[in-house]
Amino acid sequence: MAKRDYYEVLGIDKNASAEEIKKAYRKKAIQFHPDKNPGDKQAEENFKEAAEAYDVLSDPQKRQRYDQFGHAGVGGASQGGGFGGGMSMEDIFSQFGDIFGGHFGGFGGFSGFGGNTRGGRRVNRGSDLRVKVKLNLKEIANGVEKKIKVKKYVSCNKCHGNGADGDDGSTTCSTCKGSGVVTRIANTILGQMQTQSTCPTCGGEGKVITKKCPECNGEGIVRDEEVITINIPAGVAEGMQLSMNGKGNAARHGGINGDLLILIEEEEHPELIRDENDLLYNLLLSVPQAALGGTVEVPTIDGKAKVKIEPGTQPGKVLRLRNKGLPSVNSYGTGDLLVNVSVYIPESLSSSEKDMLTGLENSPNFQPNKSMKEKIFSRFRNLFD
Ligand SMILES: [Zn+2]
Ligand SMILES: [Zn+2]
Repeated sequence: MAKRDYYEVLGIDKNASAEEIKKAYRKKAIQFHPDKNPGDKQAEENFKEAAEAYDVLSDPQKRQRYDQFGHAGVGGASQGGGFGGGMSMEDIFSQFGDIFGGHFGGFGGFSGFGGNTRGGRRVNRGSDLRVKVKLNLKEIANGVEKKIKVKKYVSCNKCHGNGADGDDGSTTCSTCKGSGVVTRIANTILGQMQTQSTCPTCGGEGKVITKKCPECNGEGIVRDEEVITINIPAGVAEGMQLSMNGKGNAARHGGINGDLLILIEEEEHPELIRDENDLLYNLLLSVPQAALGGTVEVPTIDGKAKVKIEPGTQPGKVLRLRNKGLPSVNSYGTGDLLVNVSVYIPESLSSSEKDMLTGLENSPNFQPNKSMKEKIFSRFRNLFD
């Protein structure tokens, strides 16, 4: 299968700036992210394709070679084969630090881990763990500490994670002499080029295990449970993802832990509706309350607030209770509680109540005058702007 043009993959033109390339890739990465498209092979292909395009176009040197020589200039993929050995999901996610870094405060939106080699040798990285945490509005308003139990891979105690049975259980890799990489001379359109790749014998670790640790069967990791304390900042919202570095799965053979990704879910409040940092409440007054005025109580996140109702309050009026909303997660300031007034009209009446209302039917004060009609109409019109 022929490779698609990288500019086409990202949907940008040949003169796109570095910022435009980054933006376009960010969009594609979110669209085709495996978390969003579980089990969708096509999405995964698109995800990898976009990552590969970004890997080339974001690097000025690679981009220049690509512009000049096409796919053959970057990784000799003219046969339609792999991309310099292929980009693994791990490599793709390691790019994400630059792309999505620093979304909110101390948390990165996605796990950002740059560089997974150490002194030429490849260092394994454990996979990320994903958990969902459901929060109510009160927890969101104040921030909350949650303890959750997760099942995950942890480093094997017996072999301290290296996977070998004792000190003589492993030996330096003879293929790469412990460096973890092998060097090859490849003929490319640009002439002979030296390429380095991960040692196929040891997988880049520089060591091979001759006697496996019986506890973990040579993997260096075992299944276990851990209780993790998550500090959730105030103001988070449904769909936000927080990450805790190093709290994911341990890596095979003593590498670097993956991250714990925490997806926020929001519980519905029985009376309050969230609109970003504001809260909305529908206040239902009786006819006498609206006409006579008085004081009523409205629910807030941590209790109740008293609200003064002016005599003659109309349905549709919105009262604003400053700073009774939710704090903003990434800036200062707090939202408001907006109280929408509506009026309850009785659905059944006793005969004496009927008589009273009939007596009021033609009373001038019960007829809306011209200016009131205009005021109510303009509020109605605003609803559709
Ligand atoms: Zn072990
Ligand atoms: Zn090796």
